[in-house]
Amino acid sequence: MLHNLEQYVVLAKSDFDHFIVALAREQKVFAPVAKDFGQFSFEQVTEGRQVALKYIPTILPPKKYFMPQYETLATFDTSTGQNMEPVVEYEKMVLLGVHTCDLAGIQCLNMVFNERPKDLNYLIRKNKITIIGYECNDYCDKYASCRLVHNHTPNGGYDLFFTDISTDKFIVHVNTLAGEEIIEKANVFEPASEADLKALEKLRTEKRAIFAKNEVPIEHERISELFDKAYSSKVWEELAEKCLACGNCTNVCPSCYCFDVIDEPNLDLKTGKRYRKWDSCQNETFAKVAGGESFREERGARQRHRYYRKFKYPLDKFSRFFCTGCGRCSRTCMAGINLKETLSKLIDEQGMKNPNAGEVKLG
Ligand code: SF4
Ligand code: SF4
Repeated sequence: MLHNLEQYVVLAKSDFDHFIVALAREQKVFAPVAKDFGQFSFEQVTEGRQVALKYIPTILPPKKYFMPQYETLATFDTSTGQNMEPVVEYEKMVLLGVHTCDLAGIQCLNMVFNERPKDLNYLIRKNKITIIGYECNDYCDKYASCRLVHNHTPNGGYDLFFTDISTDKFIVHVNTLAGEEIIEKANVFEPASEADLKALEKLRTEKRAIFAKNEVPIEHERISELFDKAYSSKVWEELAEKCLACGNCTNVCPSCYCFDVIDEPNLDLKTGKRYRKWDSCQNETFAKVAGGESFREERGARQRHRYYRKFKYPLDKFSRFFCTGCGRCSRTCMAGINLKETLSKLIDEQGMKNPNAGEVKLG
């Protein structure tokens, strides 16, 4: 792996708190924070000690800042005609500590909302958010499948990217002008040395041993073929028996972006607002059309749709999987529906099992 030394700086861990305090004075900073029951959540921080650098994926992904759960799109006033004023709600902020699976989720959203017609609310807000990524050097837990979908290593989508390379320092990849400005202003970063880059390369080599095989027994390249074959699988019927149609799996997914648009009049029945809120393909009403017809009345069909929206349709349209491997859907499901188990069952059923899939030859 070749690195360009000029794009790297280092930060002494003893200066991390100073860095966060100074940054938070300039603009709002949001980072993973430890909560009860071993959970984590992106929240506003003002000091380094509040930031949880070793964390499993947060309850909600950082998409909540790019695409809020509720968002006003326009206000209207019909008292003097059909007057509608567009509204864009945004604030300048820094998102710090974003793992590679969530960086991938933001990249998926960027692709979708850049499609014509472009979603200006999303795009304006996104341009106000500076992203500081953070490398996870270990598996977070049994639910993750970032290796399978090639999201276990950084693949762009950030302004700065931190990697913990030793007991006393982070190495930081400076990827954009916005990132460069933060580094210059902070005045606590030092140029990286050849030895620092070597430490980064060593760490990435060691990481190959940790992420040595896919988490489910199939080659990355054959997932598309699996989904070509699995449309009429019995596995969807099994999921239908268990699924509660609560929609939690899509709410917590970093790449799920579906929303509903609602007009809410005020009591004067003349003024009001148009807003959007997250919707879920797991709700029965999601695919219902005028006349009461529902295109995905059965829960099994809705579950199948969810999987195809992660592993098949976006591959055809955007040439990438929309599952980032974060594991949130499995972690949160009250019915115990587990993405890796579902994939493994499909693989078994279709006779496509390869226990050594994705194996990295070490040494
Ligand atoms: S979280 Fe589980 S139970 Fe709820 S809709 Fe998703 S798969 Fe079904
Ligand atoms: S489908 Fe599940 S594992 Fe994949 S990105 Fe969404 S929440 Fe994460």
